[in-house]
Amino acid sequence: MNVFWHRRDLRLRDNRGLAMAARDGEVLPVFVVEEELLRRIGDRQRAFFIAGLHELREAYRERGADLLVCEGDPALALADVRERYDVDAVYYTTHYRPARCNRERRVERRFPTVAAVDLTLVDPTDLAPAYPSHSEFYDDWTAGPKPDPAPAPDPDRLVDPDEDRDLPALEAEFELPAAGYEAARRRYDRFLGDGIETYAETRDDLSAAVDRPVGAVSRMSPYIAAGMIGIREVWADATDRHERVAGAARRNVEKFRYELSWREANYHLLAHDPDLLSKNHKEFPNTIAWRNDDADFAAWKRGETGYPLVDAGMRQLEREGYIHNRPRQVVASFLTKHLLVDWQRGARHFEAELLDHDPATNYGNWQWVASTGTDTVDVRIFDPVAQTAKYDPDADYVREYVPALREVPAGKILEWPTLDRAERQRLAPDYPGPIVDRDAAYERAQRVFESALGKR
Ligand SMILES: Cc1cc2nc3c(=O)[nH]c(=O)nc-3n(C[C@H](O)[C@H](O)[C@H](O)COP(=O)(O)OP(=O)(O)OC[C@H]3O[C@@H](n4cnc5c(N)ncnc54)[C@H](O)[C@@H]3O)c2cc1C
Repeated sequence: MNVFWHRRDLRLRDNRGLAMAARDGEVLPVFVVEEELLRRIGDRQRAFFIAGLHELREAYRERGADLLVCEGDPALALADVRERYDVDAVYYTTHYRPARCNRERRVERRFPTVAAVDLTLVDPTDLAPAYPSHSEFYDDWTAGPKPDPAPAPDPDRLVDPDEDRDLPALEAEFELPAAGYEAARRRYDRFLGDGIETYAETRDDLSAAVDRPVGAVSRMSPYIAAGMIGIREVWADATDRHERVAGAARRNVEKFRYELSWREANYHLLAHDPDLLSKNHKEFPNTIAWRNDDADFAAWKRGETGYPLVDAGMRQLEREGYIHNRPRQVVASFLTKHLLVDWQRGARHFEAELLDHDPATNYGNWQWVASTGTDTVDVRIFDPVAQTAKYDPDADYVREYVPALREVPAGKILEWPTLDRAERQRLAPDYPGPIVDRDAAYERAQRVFESALGKR
């Protein structure tokens, strides 16, 4: 009998390690509750993950099997399982975050193991260790073979352990989307029905994001991050659609597939740079003179910077545990450039708050935005005012998340950081003025990064 050790892969379909374990024999599915690890996940994501675990158990029960729940250090818990069941090998999904890799090494020292490349479409270790740009990564990644979705295990292969140990209790303090594979599938079907064929046209349109949160973009990230749906399944459906449509629809579907390549690039980065979560990926000849002002950081977290798009993004994070990708870039840039707060503080805040937190994607993107990662532009600074004018010209997104600005005309919202104090007071006395001057902060960031790069 084989054990499949579930981690961030809460599904039966398109789970490559589980499929391999079932191909090679009977499978006992196991989840090891590690209190310490669960505590480190943000509250909202933990609640979602636990709900997904309950769904996973239900899926096994519907197939006449069950999830064996253990506790503690995985190497010791799995050793205990081995003593009680006749276990040949432990199968699991390969992870790239160092703490998770260490756990895998400890398990490998005790048992025969089979690790499956499951988190990505293309094995990051099959690609070159580094690429000068995303387009070069993309070319190699596109050429790399992408496996079909793995089949769900035959129920006859699944073992019912006949032990009824409780999963961590459901946590009800957040309003969460439905968890688990079925919910992920429903959401993806909705997007495939109305969204994917217009994706490139709507993905940066913040007004559309308010009108059609699922549709303008997929909102699949919480499910993909928790492994509630397999990435090959997502890819296969998008590819199938891509082959069946033409013209603009095809270009839109292609854009969606292209976005998935960014996720793969982040995994590739983490696989080859295990320090991605704790150190600048790029080497600088001089240190970056972060200001790390605590009051600025606190204002950013509260969504009270006086930059409407930044504040709307941060309040969406607080309300939903999610930020649309466009303001996600803008808030990260504002923190690391206009406020010169170290990207690690922002990334850790996101880690604690996001429902879709994914270590490779979060830290890879923070480093990209902070110009410490793989961006080919030396110093990229998103101007929050220009970004609002371009992507939220009617201020629909800002008004949705910043109630104090609901009655303010869009034109004034766009100009807010440069309006004079008397006008701001008249228009929205409860909303703050800018905590930094738009031009001065921009220029300061430029100077600081150019000095770090040795260009001044
Ligand atoms: C500072 C910062 C931090 C981020 N942290 C995370 C994170 O923790 N978890 C996370 O899933 N995404 C993260 N992203 C990427 C991106 O913002 C989200 O994936 C996206 O907004 C999720 O919404 P969606 O599912 O509707 O995306 P869609 O636009 O529908 O895209 C579909 C899928 O493609 C992938 N994807 C899209 N854009 C990106 C991107 N830029 N980088 C990597 N993958 C992408 C995601 O898996 C996403 O679910 C971050 C971006 C930034 C700028």
